[in-house]
Amino acid sequence: MAGSVHVIDHPLVQHKLSLMRSRETSTSTFRNLLREISTLLAYEVCRDLPTTRIEINTPIAPMMGPVLDGKKIVLVSILRAGSGILEGMLDIVPSARVGHIGLYRDPKTLVPVEYYYKVPDNMGERDCIVVDPMLATGNSAVAAVDRLKESGPRSIKFVCLLTCPEGLATFHGSHPDIPVFTAAVDERLNEKSYIVPGLGDAGDRLFGTK
Ligand code: URA
Repeated sequence: MAGSVHVIDHPLVQHKLSLMRSRETSTSTFRNLLREISTLLAYEVCRDLPTTRIEINTPIAPMMGPVLDGKKIVLVSILRAGSGILEGMLDIVPSARVGHIGLYRDPKTLVPVEYYYKVPDNMGERDCIVVDPMLATGNSAVAAVDRLKESGPRSIKFVCLLTCPEGLATFHGSHPDIPVFTAAVDERLNEKSYIVPGLGDAGDRLFGTK
């Protein structure tokens, strides 16, 4: 089964992504753009979320209005760059619960090693949206979703800003059931595992660490 990939090609998303890619873009602008673009990605990712109806009294009449059950949604941020997307998504789904998964790449084996894992209780009744700006080699994404699946969530979606054919192949090779939402599928990975043309190191650009 080939996994599904949803490219969010809305002009506002593409415009902001181009600004983020530029090496001239400052840390603070990059951070603001990531937050803005994440709200737009969230809009698409949340399109099919279930709603329930609640009783509301408008100034004119009572009615039953649809609402999201935000407490059922868990945004799971892959540290550290996932925080940039998380903030934008929380802007429009403020009642979502939040989980964190910390992974680093062992410099010798290049295998992702977990250093932090915390998700809410009762995952069996929750819909997870995993966020990480770059789905590059796909190894961290695979490890994060492997771990998350152990908690048995009702559903999982993966959201990134950029990916590439290699990352998608690796990710869907392990998790063909998890849809990926992205603003772009770039050309390739380079020998240092950076996405080309990409935007550089998302964490460094977000936090100004280089
Ligand atoms: N992680 C990044 O931050 N950038 C890439 O291009 C690849 C992985």
